[in-house]
Amino acid sequence: MNEFELIKRYFSRASGRADVVVGVGDDAAVLDVPPGLQLVAAVDTIIEGIHFPAGTSAVDIGYRALAVNLSDIAAMGAEPRWITLSLTTPRADASWLEGFAAGLYELAARHDVALVGGDTCKGPLVISVQVLGTIEYGRALLRAGARPGDAIYVSGVPGEAAAGLALLQSNAERDSASEHLVRRFLRPEPRLNLGRSLRGVASAAMDISDGLVTDLTKLCAASHCGARLDLERLPLSTPMHARFTEAQVRHFTLAGGDDYELLFTVPREHEPQLSAFDVPCTRVGEIVAGDGVGGFLHGEKIALPSAGFDHFREEDT
Ligand SMILES: [Mg+2]
Repeated sequence: MNEFELIKRYFSRASGRADVVVGVGDDAAVLDVPPGLQLVAAVDTIIEGIHFPAGTSAVDIGYRALAVNLSDIAAMGAEPRWITLSLTTPRADASWLEGFAAGLYELAARHDVALVGGDTCKGPLVISVQVLGTIEYGRALLRAGARPGDAIYVSGVPGEAAAGLALLQSNAERDSASEHLVRRFLRPEPRLNLGRSLRGVASAAMDISDGLVTDLTKLCAASHCGARLDLERLPLSTPMHARFTEAQVRHFTLAGGDDYELLFTVPREHEPQLSAFDVPCTRVGEIVAGDGVGGFLHGEKIALPSAGFDHFREEDT
């Protein structure tokens, strides 16, 4: 199977989107951006052995490759429209490609996103997805809008995906708690609806890809302020507590990436609007003057894990 046949067979499903003038098959896609909207672009690469363990099923890889990108669009409060795919794979294995395409298209269909172009190469398994979305002029949620006094919120239960990855990498016995955690790693739910709801409500937002403390530190740096994190407020995960010690749970919650939950700040006068959201969000702290993130447990200052995942730190490679 040559590249042309591979793309035609696995990656040429019609999307039904009227804003795709020319999709897969030409030198480039031609897309209609409605007047008055801004284009929002993000790209993310996942590599076998680094972002997911070798042996992960093709369908889960396809799903996850898109999910991590849609999460960035969600964090901006934007609408995803189109994706392009760069797939490097060791061999053109039909059942693998079928599974990968099934996982990718499953999530694409759920969020009405069209695959409009891409590229395939032979090599170690590396998948890059670029996602293009739109937002009304000036409405994007940025990291740089938090102000002292704003409440800090997280969606869902951060840390469960990191716990799931730890279970995937061990030969631990599987039970319903571990199945839940593993699924949270393999099938993160991009919080697109929540992102939409946060327009005009949140003062700053981002998605958690590298860990709560690390990402909150980035948000604070962008907003030129600091944060106080009240650890007793962190959402409790019953499945994590069933499988891990208290210290491990705290580590996953504060430093585990991979959940793709949203981290956002809300001025006090907007907080009542959060009760109408369909995703549980928990207030975990407050933006303060100064810089950096301080951790407190029942009012007492405690040390926080200093850094999440960073590709270029020596310790991680
Ligand atoms: Mg992000």
